[in-house]
Amino acid sequence: MVDKDTDIIKIDAELCTGCRRCAEVCPVDAIEGKQGTPQFINVEKCVMCGQCIQICSAYASIFEEYRTSREDKLRERNMPVTLEEPIFAAYNIGDLPKVKEALTNTEAFTMVQCAPAVRVAIAEEFGMPLGSLAPGKLAAALRQLGFNRIYDTNFAADLTIMEEGSELVQRITEGGLLPMFTSCCPAWVKFVEQEYPELIPHLSSCKSPQQMAGTMFKTYGAQADGVEPDNIYSVAIMPCTCKKFESQRPEMNTDGYQNVDAVLTTRELAYLIKEAGIDFSSLPEEDFDKPLGMYSGAGHLFCATGGVMEAAIRTAYELITNEPIPNVNIQYVRGSQGVRRGVVHAGDVKVKTVVVSGLKNVVPILEEIKKGNADFHFMEVMTCPVGCVSGGGQPKVLLPKDTEIAYKNRISSTYRHDEEQTYRKSHENPEIKAIYKNFLGEPLGHKSHHLLHTEYKQRGYCK
Ligand code: SF4
Ligand code: SF4
Repeated sequence: MVDKDTDIIKIDAELCTGCRRCAEVCPVDAIEGKQGTPQFINVEKCVMCGQCIQICSAYASIFEEYRTSREDKLRERNMPVTLEEPIFAAYNIGDLPKVKEALTNTEAFTMVQCAPAVRVAIAEEFGMPLGSLAPGKLAAALRQLGFNRIYDTNFAADLTIMEEGSELVQRITEGGLLPMFTSCCPAWVKFVEQEYPELIPHLSSCKSPQQMAGTMFKTYGAQADGVEPDNIYSVAIMPCTCKKFESQRPEMNTDGYQNVDAVLTTRELAYLIKEAGIDFSSLPEEDFDKPLGMYSGAGHLFCATGGVMEAAIRTAYELITNEPIPNVNIQYVRGSQGVRRGVVHAGDVKVKTVVVSGLKNVVPILEEIKKGNADFHFMEVMTCPVGCVSGGGQPKVLLPKDTEIAYKNRISSTYRHDEEQTYRKSHENPEIKAIYKNFLGEPLGHKSHHLLHTEYKQRGYCK
């Protein structure tokens, strides 16, 4: 359990060359040290986005010897000692030992969720083309690894839209605090808590989809599967290193049960699949389990910058007007510019929106809000360059020339997967309808509030 900032992200002083490429991509200037000397991370400033891990190219091959042996380095990182891959100077501490133990514990009922960005990138770890879409193989691999239920964060993304969209409509129609900020990206939330605590009330009180999924596993999922919450071990597969931090926050606990027990990045899941000897590329296509594995195209969009906004607009438009939205593809929120502004005309209501990717791009906007000059209603912020598809836990793209191709392909796979879904709006997902009818009641109701919302707080470091 972590209440303070921890050192999930580290730099190996024996491997670091001091090139400071990591400092160039760090959005909060948390990397300190002189050029040419090993760098270190100011953990209070660090938002744990893992972008330093993605850019670092200093590595130990499997043939090199260091003062600390390769095996010890792998153990320190919680990586399998059998791994035959280079290990890099910048890295994150993993959760594999905990997950392996849960998978062999006959008392534990394991439920796993997969974030949307994982299915558009994990195949890269197995030699498939950059951005290959592989949801069916992913579900099959998780089943072969022995998880009892293969559920999905996308389902909880649909739930987030129900709650967050309703919260936005309530703030607009009843005079609540605006603009409202999305709270899905934990690095962005941590940034607000430590750099702009006076703006915390602007954050949506919704838990992120990862945490909503975890809550639902140990309540609704426990009922559906006839298991005690005590016996459920809840694992999340995430493209994001900061999700490890988020899952350990004391606020992410419902009635004494931590919502998520362990988080594996996409890279860590690939280590697990390789260690188990599973041939990922030849796996058959399998489905996610129901009920908590059914999702709409809107839920899947959460992994791209602008995706939460697009999903929210699809639902908010219909909540406000009671009419179908004329076109579900909201082009103006898509793209790669750091800031994208627009207006949604929903009947007589004009909702002004801002989409931001990259924390450095949000600072001038936050300063404007502090001066009372904000003229918009809703802002989506994602810390990573093009959203979660470029997260710090995603497969590392070794050649810089391939980075842009990887991001482009992962994004186009994302929109393709949305178009392939039977349901493309969160509120049309039949399992979401059933959950409100049979369990939660209504969005923003008493039970939803207890399970799916939280509070954010000022953190130790403030500028
Ligand atoms: S994890 Fe992100 S915030 Fe932390 S040092 Fe690395 S790049 Fe900077
Ligand atoms: S951690 Fe990697 S990218 Fe950062 S200075 Fe060291 S070698 Fe360079």
